[in-house]
Formats: sequence, C-alpha cells, structure tokens
Amino acid sequence: MNIVTRFSPSPTGYLHIGSVRTALYSWLFARSKNGKFILRIEDTDIVRSNKQYYKQHIIDSMTWLGINWDYGPYYQTNRLDRYYSVIDYMLKNNIAYKCFCTEDRLKVLRQSQLINKIKPKYDGHCRNIKYTGNNSNNYVIRFRNPDNGHVVFNDLIRGEISFSNNEIDDLIILRTNNIPTYNFCSVIDDYDMGVTHVIRGEEHISNTPRQINILKSLGINLPNYAHLSILLDNNGKKLSKRDKSNNVMYYHNNGILKEALLNYIIKLGWSYGNKEIFSLNEVISLFNLNKISKSPIKFDVNKLLWYNKYYMNNLSIDYIVNDFINYAKLLNLNFDKNIKIKDLLKLTISRCNTMKEIIDKYKYLYSNKINLNLSYLNYLNIKDKLIFISVFKDFLLTLKNSNDWSVYKIQNILNQVSLNKENKKIFYQLLRFAITNSHCSPPLSQIIYVAGKFNIINRIKNIIELIKK
Ligand code: GLU
Repeated sequence: MNIVTRFSPSPTGYLHIGSVRTALYSWLFARSKNGKFILRIEDTDIVRSNKQYYKQHIIDSMTWLGINWDYGPYYQTNRLDRYYSVIDYMLKNNIAYKCFCTEDRLKVLRQSQLINKIKPKYDGHCRNIKYTGNNSNNYVIRFRNPDNGHVVFNDLIRGEISFSNNEIDDLIILRTNNIPTYNFCSVIDDYDMGVTHVIRGEEHISNTPRQINILKSLGINLPNYAHLSILLDNNGKKLSKRDKSNNVMYYHNNGILKEALLNYIIKLGWSYGNKEIFSLNEVISLFNLNKISKSPIKFDVNKLLWYNKYYMNNLSIDYIVNDFINYAKLLNLNFDKNIKIKDLLKLTISRCNTMKEIIDKYKYLYSNKINLNLSYLNYLNIKDKLIFISVFKDFLLTLKNSNDWSVYKIQNILNQVSLNKENKKIFYQLLRFAITNSHCSPPLSQIIYVAGKFNIINRIKNIIELIKK
C-alpha cells in the first residue's frame, strides 16, 4: 500500500505545539513508510480563518522545522467547485437535503430538548422536502445521517471506537453563505488526495463517525484513523491555542534550535525504550504508530530547554555558527566583522540555554554602544586615577602593537601589567567593567580575544576618557 498522510490545519490562529506534533507524527509515519505527505490548509471557515498571515505562519513554521511536504499546500477555498459538484450529486441522490429551518426554530427546538434532557440534535424537520434545485436562497444543506446502527472504526492508537448513529446529527455540509463545512470538505479532500492514514488530534474523534458516514454514503473506502492524545500545560490544562508561548515560532524567536524542538515534540507521546536523543533520520527508521501513547502528555518548557542546551553543545560548531547568524538576522542584529562569532559561541554556549540568552547576556561583546555604569569609577581617588590612566595607556599601546591576537598572547600582555597585587586587581576589574559593564564574565583574555582588537581598543580609549573625567 502506498501510504499517504496529510496535515490539514485550519488557519484560525498561530500554529501551536500540539498541531506541530500532529504534523510531525503524520510526516514521520509517511517518511517511515516511503509514503507521501500532503499539506492542506483548511480555510473554509472564512470568518475565523481569512487571515493571510496565519496561512503564511503555517508555511513558515513547517519550513523552519524542515517538515517538508510532497504535495500542496492546497487551500480548500480553491476547491469550492469540486465541493459544489459533490453536494449537487448528494442532493440529487437524496444523500443530502436542503434545510430551511430558521435560527429561531432551531433555538426553540434546542431549548425544548435541553428541558427534556435530550441531547440537542436536529430533528430532521426538512428531511422530506423534495429537492427542486431552485428553492429560496435561505437554506443550509445537511447530510442525511443514517438513523440506526453504529459506526465502528479501529483507531490505530486507541483500538475499536464505536458511536451510535442515533447520537449523530444531520450535519450541515453547506452553510447559508454557500461555503461548505470542515467535516465535508475534509472527507472529499482525503478521498481526492488519496489519503490512506488520517492522523490528527483526539478532539476530532467525534467527527470521525460523521465523516465515515459521508464516505460510506458516497461508496468510498475508508482511510485508517489515528487520534493523538492532547497536550497539557504545567497546570494540567489543555495547551491553549491562545497562549502565545504555545506558538511554535515563539520558540524560534526565543532562540530554540529546531533540532531541540523537534526532538522534544517527538518525545511528547512517542518513545523508544529510554532513548532521549533522536535525529530525524533515526526516528524515521524507528517510528511506528503503535508506540504512541493514548494518555494526555505534559509539555514542559524546562525539558525543552534541556534539549536545547544539549543540541547547542553537541551539534557541530559550524552548524551552530550558521544557525546563530541566521537567528541574529531574524532579530535584525548585524555583527561587525571584528567579532569572532565562532569563538564567541565556543565561549558562551556551555553557559547558556538558548541562542537568545547568548545574544542578551553577551551583548557587550558585539554591541558598539554599551552604557557603562559610571558609579564604579567614583571609588577611585585622584592619585589612583592617574595611575590607572597611565597603565591603561601602556596596555593599549602593547595591545595595538601586538601582531598576535590570540588568547595566549593577550593573557601574556595582561600578566605583564606592572602594578602591585592590590592595584592589579582593580585594573582587572576596571578592564572587565570597560568591556562588559559588569563585574563578572568569562576569563578576560577570552572575552578580549572574542570582542576583537578594534572593539577592545575603542573600549579602552573610552575607559581612559571616563577615568579622566
Ligand atoms: N482542520 C482541522 C484542525 O485544524 C484538522 C482536521 C483534520 O485533521 O481532519 O483542527
């Protein structure tokens, strides 16, 4: 069997972690079986999903993560003619019918059902109105759901699931605005696109019997279904779509490596023994739907940071440099050419959890403008000031004249500064302060080296001027 899976988000908001997991598992399943993976944007809810940037956001997020698709992106709003022709067929064959019930009637019906403790459901009032093709415009089209029997399907993660038909409504498949609805379009698309495995979130379990009934009414073979469990936040609540920290690009913007995010998302519900670290290629060779958990899983940001730190320290330094430069571009940061980015990263990655932390914490190494906190200089008396001005001038000259810009050489120059022990300590503090605007940093010789000769000379000149003032 040629496996075809799809990811079919509705662009009603930013792509969130739960949706990415759905996309990733569908993609992994297709890739692990040499199958095809489709990206389909389900944008027929035109009130909620007409925002172009949500559509673009889906594409950008998938592209960033490298979840590539073989076909698509398809947009349902480009396929309306196809849906209309199927609906026409369904009307003509009495599989669907026009429903002229007013909102008021449906409201009254619903209220009386609730009062009588009956599950609200359309009562089939318009089922027997004959289709004439030119009734008034104010109607919806409903699918004629079977009255009796059960819909039973074998979920590849959960096993057999059964629904009684008398619990299922006559689903609206075309709204009054002439736009078909999700449950209908999705079924037609899955059929047209040859989807063999529908892998999606468990919130769609109750849609599955409706979709199966539509498929059966059209004489179409059913795909396989697999419903993934929900993701929970730290408080045990369902991961909210509205919370921006569940948006996948939020993690990109905050300096998380895609390798870390992918590895962590893979582990949210799928496991292979106690193994924690997986490359995508490895998972492709190991992935299997029957290893997926049925239980809700907690999304833990600290665990993600753990993965991120792991990947920052274990991917090749050249890869990290490239990723860091791209990340800096995303933040509109341009490093001047004197900065030794590779050395900056070598010096800082083991001290940080994210790329953003490196950018924020070590800003002083690449930013031309640092606003020194001058109160530190107030502790120096006039005599000390004169001493330090002269020592800084000598130090500056030696650095300037040195042809060798290496950590070793810089350390030598630092060692040669002729001051007594006490003053040497103050000199180091002033120098560190001139470069980092703080009292703690990685070793001085290393930060001087990384910041580059040009930057350091300017900063020493700057501190001399400040001491003079
Ligand atoms: N468009 C649906 C959603 O975003 C997914 C439907 C499906 O996978 O069948 O939840």
